Amino acid sequence: MIKITKKENCTGCHACYNVCPKACITMEYDEEGFLYPKVNYEKCIQCNLCERTCPIIHSKKIDNNPVAYACYNKDENIRNQSTSGGIFTLISENIINSNGIVFGAGFDKNYNVVHTMSDNISDLEKFRGSKYVQSSIGDTYKEVKKLLEKEKIVLFTGTPCQIGGIKSYLGKDYPNLICQDIICHGVPSQYVWQHYRDLISSGRNIKNINFRDKSTGWKKYSLKFDFYNGQYYKEIGNKNAYIKGFINNLYLRPSCYNCAYKTLNRQSDITLADFWGIEGILPELDDNKGTSLVFINSDKGKLLFENIKNNTVYKGVDIKKSITFNPCAVVSCEKNKVRNKFLNEYKNKDFNELIELYTREKISKKYNFIFQVFKNLIKRLNIY
Ligand SMILES: Cc1cc2nc3c(=O)[nH]c(=O)nc-3n(C[C@H](O)[C@H](O)[C@H](O)COP(=O)(O)OP(=O)(O)OC[C@H]3O[C@@H](n4cnc5c(N)ncnc54)[C@H](O)[C@@H]3O)c2cc1C
Repeated sequence: MIKITKKENCTGCHACYNVCPKACITMEYDEEGFLYPKVNYEKCIQCNLCERTCPIIHSKKIDNNPVAYACYNKDENIRNQSTSGGIFTLISENIINSNGIVFGAGFDKNYNVVHTMSDNISDLEKFRGSKYVQSSIGDTYKEVKKLLEKEKIVLFTGTPCQIGGIKSYLGKDYPNLICQDIICHGVPSQYVWQHYRDLISSGRNIKNINFRDKSTGWKKYSLKFDFYNGQYYKEIGNKNAYIKGFINNLYLRPSCYNCAYKTLNRQSDITLADFWGIEGILPELDDNKGTSLVFINSDKGKLLFENIKNNTVYKGVDIKKSITFNPCAVVSCEKNKVRNKFLNEYKNKDFNELIELYTREKISKKYNFIFQVFKNLIKRLNIY
């Protein structure tokens, strides 16, 4: 049976939880705010299906030939509501128009992030936009399987580890399943998010949260909370404490620092990302309103892109060049040296001050390092 001896080896994908025939695995939060499987040994019949289904224990190698596009949705309104080019919505609309079902990450009524499904275009807005928190999968893999067996077309979207999870859970290819992943920086803790959400809302009822509000531009996006009393909170991402902590890797899941899914040869059919560096690589597709980087990874992905491409502005790009400014496609984030210290302290200290302190240290170390490199170079050149 599944036993988590090293937390770094569990992505929290929920495959073991969903596959257990006796429902004797529960997913429980650890003290950092990440879900891990817990086996009820009294109910367990030792069938070992959980271990056999784990996508990390039984990793899969993909031999494909992905191609990349820079692309954005021609619908300005949808593009504005989306994180990058609004391609997720186009793909999903195509699936729903074919009588299919879409699974993705949305907020629950308390603004925790959870996976659910939708068969309705007007309901797709709940999945639209990146939520920088690990989404809880719940029973969605079981729901996907039931729908696939009823011959429904299903689009499952999520992080690469969630795609690895559903593929392992299903154990075979279904022609009516399409998977879309994202290039993923890493996923933050639910507990840190809940703490920050409560700090910002301070008792006010939340109407909406947008992690990537574009009213200050796509590259200089803001984190925005809207409240029912008409008030709002908005702060530029690179000044906002939560986004700074996320980008500086202060509260990512342990498995994200050594992610098993960093590759261009992905299990998904289609991959979506922000096209960072577009202004230098394809300036004609950059208007600071958000451009997506899209990888087509399989024949299913190719067909889907063929179906939507006329509703987009797009251009092919060399895949290796496309990730010049997006290393998260192929490399894991470095673990911040003060991560564990931060996670022990944040509940009892001023959140903004702590982030300022721990991200400033990192920045000053970086500048110090650059200064030392220059100093050594000048010495070598005998300039002084
Ligand atoms: C945690 C996280 C880290 C990311 N890191 C990077 C990165 O390093 N580089 C990069 O280029 N892009 C990254 N992205 C992806 C990027 O921000 C956009 O989601 C992507 O470009 C799609 O944009 P869109 O405009 O087409 O659609 P949007 O409507 O903005 O995207 C919606 C899609 O994102 C999915 N989604 C939203 N939140 C989550 C979540 N918490 N977990 C799983 N799926 C989620 C939805 O299910 C849906 O498929 C990240 C996204 C997330 C959620």
